Amino acid sequence: MKQNNDGILYLFKKNKVAFFHGRGSFARAVDGGYEIAVKGAPNETLAAKHVIVATGSNARALPGAAFDEAQILSNDGALRIAAVPKRLGVVGSGVIGLEMGSVWRRLGADVTVLEALPDFLGAVDAGVAKEAFKAFTKQGLKIQLGVKIGTVKTGKAGVGVSYTDAKGAEQTLEVDKLIVSIGRVPNTTGLNAQAVGLALDERGAIVVDAECRTNLANVWAVGDVVRGPMLAHKAEEEGVAVAERIAGQHGHVNFNTIPWVIYTSPEIAWVGQTEQQLKAEGRAYKAGQFPFLANGRARALGDTTGFVKFLADAATDEILGVHIIGPLASELIAEAVVAMEFKASAEDIARICHAHPSLSEATKEAALAVDKRTLNF
Ligand SMILES: Cc1cc2nc3c(=O)[nH]c(=O)nc-3n(C[C@H](O)[C@H](O)[C@H](O)COP(=O)(O)OP(=O)(O)OC[C@H]3O[C@@H](n4cnc5c(N)ncnc54)[C@H](O)[C@@H]3O)c2cc1C
Repeated sequence: MKQNNDGILYLFKKNKVAFFHGRGSFARAVDGGYEIAVKGAPNETLAAKHVIVATGSNARALPGAAFDEAQILSNDGALRIAAVPKRLGVVGSGVIGLEMGSVWRRLGADVTVLEALPDFLGAVDAGVAKEAFKAFTKQGLKIQLGVKIGTVKTGKAGVGVSYTDAKGAEQTLEVDKLIVSIGRVPNTTGLNAQAVGLALDERGAIVVDAECRTNLANVWAVGDVVRGPMLAHKAEEEGVAVAERIAGQHGHVNFNTIPWVIYTSPEIAWVGQTEQQLKAEGRAYKAGQFPFLANGRARALGDTTGFVKFLADAATDEILGVHIIGPLASELIAEAVVAMEFKASAEDIARICHAHPSLSEATKEAALAVDKRTLNF
């Protein structure tokens, strides 16, 4: 972490970026720009023609159960637990909840995940979510869906969570520590947005158009503090595009090809639409799937969980979505992103030579499977 952070300070210096360490807020609009107050050491007031707000997001707390980072943990506290807890509770089975729960489970904690929604990983392709549920429960993760959290009480003995389960029965979960990962809130408190009339939506996010322009001239906002997926690479792409626009160029972010990754074991990665989204749209599609069990490299690695799945337009064969669960899914998804950016068909991928033995052969085979032409399964 320190090396990475110091690396950024080095890049600032190299690229002649002046860095002021402190809390920034809008002081007022002035002729031709804005005054930004920096509360730090020392306090400063900066004048800027253009402002880019990138203040990120904070973990959302459960009502009546504020984070104390000792027993009720946000992602910050969840990464600072000094010893493996015997019993760990996780409220929320989204990306962060699953990543944290799955790490601590593999380190030996007895982990119970409580999720309000009836479906597991509802935003993920249903076939992948089913495979993931199977893999995580096999690892010993206890996942309860469709629960309604009641009260959370902390004491010397640990944390008690009362909840109603999917069948309507009252339950209590006793754990040593509780990770709450029920979403994130855009971080706009302290920005003094009202001083300049910067528009926020009902969630507190800064309102922007597709090009990250706010309602104020020359004020831009990017990343978690605006709409769209809360992902580091999405934030980075928006930041670069805004810098290009300020420089008079034509920055562009394609929101349809932003890859998603869940860093659990097995990893989950996808780009484009899920099967359930295509069904809801009424789009005619073909699906092809190839298991890592039939991939030589996965077998050599001893890591054969999961599969690669392609979804392609029934008429044109254009790739509409690629979903991977399994070894190095986070790396394999890059090929699918490139393919979709270039509007490739499943057949395009199927006809590309992939190195043997490699995990990427499963991608080629899944593309072949779209037309039922797999070679090794
Ligand atoms: C546990 C966890 C795991 C994640 N894993 C992944 C992952 O694997 N892949 C992925 O793509 N994304 C991941 N994310 C999401 C990713 O971290 C965010 O999408 C990304 O950091 C957003 O970038 P940002 O620049 O908008 O905000 P941030 O990276 O949050 O940066 C905002 C910065 O602004 C500072 N700040 C806030 N207010 C002020 C102010 N008034 N003045 C000065 N500074 C201020 C904050 O201190 C912070 O340093 C994860 C998030 C969490 C919490």
